[in-house]
Amino acid sequence: MDAPEPAAPDLTMKLPALTRDRRPRRVTPMLWLLALAVVSSAAGTDATQRVAPPPLHARTAQRLIIENAMVIYGNGRPAFGPADVVVEDGRITRVGTWTTGTARTADAVIDGTGKYVMPGIVNTHMHWHEWRVPSIPQPVQYERNLYLAAGVTTVRELGGNFRTSKRWQAESDAGTIVSPRILVYPRPDLGLLRTSEQIRLGVRRAKQDGADGLKIGGLDRDQLEALLDEAHRQGLRTAAHIGVEETTAADYIELGVDSIEHFYGVADAALGGVQRFPPGMNYSDERHRFARAGELFAQADPEALRAVVESMVEHGVAWSPTLSVYEASRDAVRAQNLPWYPDYLHPSMEAFWQPDPERHGSYLAGWTSSDEAAWRRNYRIWMDALLHFGRRGGLITTGDDAGYIYSLYGFGLIRELELLEEAGFHPLEVLTHATTNGAKLLGLDDRLGRVRVGYLADLLVVNGNPLENLRLLNPYGTSVAVDGRSVHGGGIEWTIKDGVPYHVSTLMAEVRDMVDEARAAGRGRVTAGQP
Ligand SMILES: [Zn+2]
Repeated sequence: MDAPEPAAPDLTMKLPALTRDRRPRRVTPMLWLLALAVVSSAAGTDATQRVAPPPLHARTAQRLIIENAMVIYGNGRPAFGPADVVVEDGRITRVGTWTTGTARTADAVIDGTGKYVMPGIVNTHMHWHEWRVPSIPQPVQYERNLYLAAGVTTVRELGGNFRTSKRWQAESDAGTIVSPRILVYPRPDLGLLRTSEQIRLGVRRAKQDGADGLKIGGLDRDQLEALLDEAHRQGLRTAAHIGVEETTAADYIELGVDSIEHFYGVADAALGGVQRFPPGMNYSDERHRFARAGELFAQADPEALRAVVESMVEHGVAWSPTLSVYEASRDAVRAQNLPWYPDYLHPSMEAFWQPDPERHGSYLAGWTSSDEAAWRRNYRIWMDALLHFGRRGGLITTGDDAGYIYSLYGFGLIRELELLEEAGFHPLEVLTHATTNGAKLLGLDDRLGRVRVGYLADLLVVNGNPLENLRLLNPYGTSVAVDGRSVHGGGIEWTIKDGVPYHVSTLMAEVRDMVDEARAAGRGRVTAGQP
């Protein structure tokens, strides 16, 4: 940015300034003030500190009413309303039309007229990053803000720095940081030799250390047997990233994994042999690996693939496909030129994405039309398999795996919803994948994922109807037609986590400041994408 923000901005001055943001601001200053009064009073801040950083919050003794909104419940039932949603002490205490005579006092009121309320989104596959290239630190708050702005109120981190993530989890639960709630699934330490004893010990240690589940993969059959048996004994859920290896989805399904991430192992289980890789294939070479991965579904036997997918359903194995993170493979130019990069792409992230064989997923150097054609075929077969899986009752969840291959935190998750619609699901089903299903996979469906009385108040107030256009959830907003003209609209207005409302435009203004600051420090600039 050009100049630092004033140390003590006047609230009334700050509000007009925020309207420089691309999205129309539909909240009235009075409502924003009311909401700020809620979140700031218990946090003990004074008025001048309310604007930035984002409202620090208190989890208790708050009463919030969202008035006159349409409600998307979360489990696939049609939207209903207009209704009022009442939140007290971080929980939903009422959903319905108001009855006269009931006390209507509240610490804050959000006018939901013309808006939709839906459950917060569960991101079932993500990673926190503190930098993407070592020379440019990337503040983790950048990612937290982006996720909240995209409506993500719960994340499942797979792998990552276990100790740090557990600390962030505790801070998020205590309400001392602005962040989605976090579930931590580390990779267990399986020992040098990966003997059955070492593997079992590693699983038990992860349990003792407080893991919420495990990320697994890269295992031979005997190792997988030991690991999943011990995980079941310890009551730890498991998420599998299956590479091209001895075990395929068939092994993981048979032995009782909870979710399969991405797609690789699924196609591999339907090959009837090994992958038909060219003789020069080197799996350590990212360019080789990702180009050839785009051919795996086409190599699979269609009947065998259906059988694998049906077996997943029978065994209760969920699928977290992360469609969005591979999308650059089918359309590199699109991925490299998304309209939110100039304002919101951190230079650390931008540098990481430049093609480099040393960096995971930065493989698009010399990407060809043939590579893209293969990946487009791959997506068609993958999406058909997903649709079949969903139609048979399989549990599909949404994860963005962002921070790689031009998938930006939060934006990737909303793109994931669009791709699930492209696969053939109704938007109402897609929102079920993103909410109820995610909560179910995490074992939190008794408290999360629905706009239901007694559930935790993780709620989104959306400018418009996301069932009409899932892109309305994009933190950048989208084109909305008004009298035949394109107007920049949409976006989530408020993301509410644990009953605490976060104003999305403010979160995004802060993201922009973080990006400006890093660029001003000479740490990078947005360049045009590479054709
Ligand atoms: Zn991942």
